Amino acid sequence: MCTDNSNETISRRGLFAGGLALTLAGASAPQAFAQSNDAPPATPADALERLIAGNARYVANAPINTDHSVARSARALGQQPFAAIVACADSRVVPELIFDQGPGDLFVVRVAGNFINDDGLASLEFGAAVLGVKTIIVLGHTSCGAVDATIKSIQDKALPPGHLPHLVNAIRPAVYDVMDGNPTDLLAAATARNAVLNAERAATADPILSEMHASGKISSVGGVYDIATGKVSLL
Ligand SMILES: [Zn+2]
Repeated sequence: MCTDNSNETISRRGLFAGGLALTLAGASAPQAFAQSNDAPPATPADALERLIAGNARYVANAPINTDHSVARSARALGQQPFAAIVACADSRVVPELIFDQGPGDLFVVRVAGNFINDDGLASLEFGAAVLGVKTIIVLGHTSCGAVDATIKSIQDKALPPGHLPHLVNAIRPAVYDVMDGNPTDLLAAATARNAVLNAERAATADPILSEMHASGKISSVGGVYDIATGKVSLL
């Protein structure tokens, strides 16, 4: 962890001046190219509000983002997503549908078990520092196979084959956190804890995201998506 403020400043300045922002200047644009004609949310609270409203439309089966060809050519000029979603790879979890947003609205990082490893963190840093997302939701979901496999691995004292231990090891801290309390529904408790832990990781990751959180430019929150109802509950 870098605790030297001057180094942090230099590091961040380097990120912007040294190439990332320069190289990807065309990736960001001064206006939104999403389907919605609304101006992009100005604050983290506005961004979260827009996501919550979109989820309510999804639950009510009344989406407004249904024509994904709108502004297609304009999107070739740049992107300005307003939120980042860290979601599970589960085929039933589709962030753009769940939050009723169009192409260009969401910067999505997906991995089974929706945890944030270094690669995911780098993606979020890019989404925040270069593209300007205002909020990050780490989105767990009901019936998550990755969390369930982690619980079974702990209970059976056995690791799954192949590269699956990478997932289990990443999700394990959340399961350990809640299992001592003997929750009625261990899977639900671990899923929620995993979302919260990873939202905290995003909020405290030095030097880029921690600084943006401290200055109020971005927020991070955990949430759980209920596959049966479509509703997202923020934690
Ligand atoms: Zn899952």
